[in-house]
Amino acid sequence: MQRYLDYNATCPTLDVALDAMHEAAKHASGNPSSMHWAGRSARRVLDDARDKIADYLNVESGSLVFTSGGTEANNMAIFGCLSMAKKGKVVVSAIEHPSVLQTITYWCERLGHELHLVRPQKNGQMNADTFCGQLDENTVMASLMWANNESGVIQPVQQVVQACNKLSIPVLVDGVQALGKIKLDAGELGADFISFSAHKIGGPKGVGVLVVRRGVQCETWALGGGQERGRRSGTENVPGVAGFAAALGVLNYMDTEAVRDSFEEKLLASMPDVTIHGSDVERVANTSMFTVPGMDGETLLMQLDLAGFAVASGSACSSGKREPSHVLQAMGVDAHASRSSLRVSFGLEHTENDALALVDELVRIRGLLKHMAGL
Ligand code: PLP
Repeated sequence: MQRYLDYNATCPTLDVALDAMHEAAKHASGNPSSMHWAGRSARRVLDDARDKIADYLNVESGSLVFTSGGTEANNMAIFGCLSMAKKGKVVVSAIEHPSVLQTITYWCERLGHELHLVRPQKNGQMNADTFCGQLDENTVMASLMWANNESGVIQPVQQVVQACNKLSIPVLVDGVQALGKIKLDAGELGADFISFSAHKIGGPKGVGVLVVRRGVQCETWALGGGQERGRRSGTENVPGVAGFAAALGVLNYMDTEAVRDSFEEKLLASMPDVTIHGSDVERVANTSMFTVPGMDGETLLMQLDLAGFAVASGSACSSGKREPSHVLQAMGVDAHASRSSLRVSFGLEHTENDALALVDELVRIRGLLKHMAGL
């Protein structure tokens, strides 16, 4: 039996999203910039999807810039902001997704900004006072994610955005892992930039959005035909955006706390030396990240894969790399323990039986590996 327990990497695409994409590709296949009937019908589908997504997020339709995903949305915000700023300080959490961390590091080096990485507490949550204590009149940008993709820990974005707004510091909130997992109101948050991705909620892969608050100055990301109010040129991905709106329209919160809790309870009962990261602070309800001492995370992952369980070790987006998780390291977990870590992220289809079956399999594999190592 196959069990997909890697929802933070991506979710299965929902049927409603597939239907909406098919419908748009078939019946609205004109270019939304064309003035004839075919263009107008594509434009209607795009505008309708834009309005639905904006409504859901409680922001103005005109503040949405559609992108090829969360990575591009983050890149657009960072380049858009830093390339226009005078030389200054950039304050970023050390647990951001690579699409934020690498991009900010790159542009800081290229443009001569000074990068300040702020580490979270041991539990994976950023202390808002520590973060805000780094902000000053020389700060030209700040960035803190809404929820972490590896630990699932929810970050104090409200306090950070308020502090940034007070000091007129442009702030990016990466909302990719928060959408669909917590009740969020992007309008109320009031950050200058907020990024989201469709495939983390059952929409298509390769579609995302950057919410740019009205009045925010931001360098053009892609020049050409002037689409997306001149911010990102290129013929819009009408089926993709329609699929995104359709997935949002039926969004059910990943209310998987009971499943996750029974998984963690049984895991600790069966292997008392396991450490669960971030379990004493608010996390999204579907995520569990833990360290199994003495085991290599990649080996566990491969053994679980053979048994039909799809999970992640470290950050799924950078899997394939052997570097230990930068998130766990920023939380003070040593490199060795980081390499012995796995992330399980449940979806709505899962039951306690799936969670318990995973623990049984982990116990079996650990026993087997220890036996093979002669321990
Ligand atoms: N930001 C976070 C927090 C993520 O978890 C991811 C993907 O895992 C991204 C950004 C990138 O999104 P996309 O895969 O749509 O490029």
